[in-house]
Amino acid sequence: MLLVIYLYWTRSILITLKRIQITVLVDKMSQDEPMTIATLGSHSALQILKGAKDEGFGTLLICEENRHSLYKRFRFIDEILTISHYDELLDSRCKQRLDNTKSIIIPHGTMIAYFTYRDIENISVPIFGNRKIFQWESDRNLKQKLMNASQLITPKLIQRKEDIDKLCIVKLHGAAGGRGYFLAWNKESFEENATSLLNQRRIRSEDDLFIQEYVIGVPTYLQFFYSPLNRQIEFLGADIRYESDIDSIGRIPAKQQLSISLQPSYNVIGNLPLVLRESLLEGVYVMGERFVKASEELVPPGMIGPFCLEGVYDKEGIFTTFEFSARIVAGTNLYINGSPYSELIYDEPMSMGRRIAHEIRIAKEKGFLNQVFT
Ligand code: ADP
Repeated sequence: MLLVIYLYWTRSILITLKRIQITVLVDKMSQDEPMTIATLGSHSALQILKGAKDEGFGTLLICEENRHSLYKRFRFIDEILTISHYDELLDSRCKQRLDNTKSIIIPHGTMIAYFTYRDIENISVPIFGNRKIFQWESDRNLKQKLMNASQLITPKLIQRKEDIDKLCIVKLHGAAGGRGYFLAWNKESFEENATSLLNQRRIRSEDDLFIQEYVIGVPTYLQFFYSPLNRQIEFLGADIRYESDIDSIGRIPAKQQLSISLQPSYNVIGNLPLVLRESLLEGVYVMGERFVKASEELVPPGMIGPFCLEGVYDKEGIFTTFEFSARIVAGTNLYINGSPYSELIYDEPMSMGRRIAHEIRIAKEKGFLNQVFT
């Protein structure tokens, strides 16, 4: 017991020290020096760095060797720091380069999927957004708690495979990009697919799986930005994911579908744009605002910057939220030149990547950088 208290206490002290270190670093950046926006070479890196350049920042990409040839094609990337593995982001060589270039990091899905929340908590470079909230994104229980506190309608959770009595979607923990997800309608269909994942060593036991009621309707990703500077929420876009193989099954006639044993996956290949019926928009803002308020209460300082509510609109136009992302989502890559919604707010093309850099620029000009970094 004493050991647990000691470890907890030591960890709290280390986190506080890290916070002070970041605050000092950010304060230094506030003085009129040029700043660099850095990110990992993956996910939405092109959009983030293009937006940074458009807002007048230097840009730095940290990428694995095998992606160097892709990213070197783009002139808005000032410097590429090549690493052999993402792990090296935590090494002193990266840290030194980030410090020397006065860099801050914009987190995205690859960073959340690859690093543990502890790794992210320990990065001693300022991160745009609330780094504590990434734990809430990657832990299913915390995620559900935040969605409940936001008064969002969520799919029913099924605790035991024996209780499956209607169509369910079975998921792996973490941001798996839909890979390995499967449908089950009873205990047997659950076990059949779980065994296959066990054989492939994708899971260690059935406990690694998470069962949710399957909601029938239009899967929709709602893209928001919350500005802690003006305390306003902006709805900047919506998208549909196009997933392999589930979205291409309709191209095969039913007779052939029945003749092949196909277990479709939900692996995201790309995103399609979506414009919502205007009558749905008020509800979209209400959901976004509730989410911002609940995160302020549960994970202070709350939501900073981009986030996404992910769910399904049913035939009554009711939105059931199955997930959230507390950072930029790849679906925003659609709107690099602005979206039908950003166009209503800004007179210039405003991608989510640029919106982030815009917030940093305003915060820097007003001396409020500590409100957007943690
Ligand atoms: P990840 O977070 O790993 O990227 P998602 O949770 O977004 O994956 O789910 C991947 C896909 O699974 C979604 O695009 C959607 O089609 C489907 N999906 C997820 N949850 C549900 C649900 N409860 N009901 C219906 N479809 C769902």
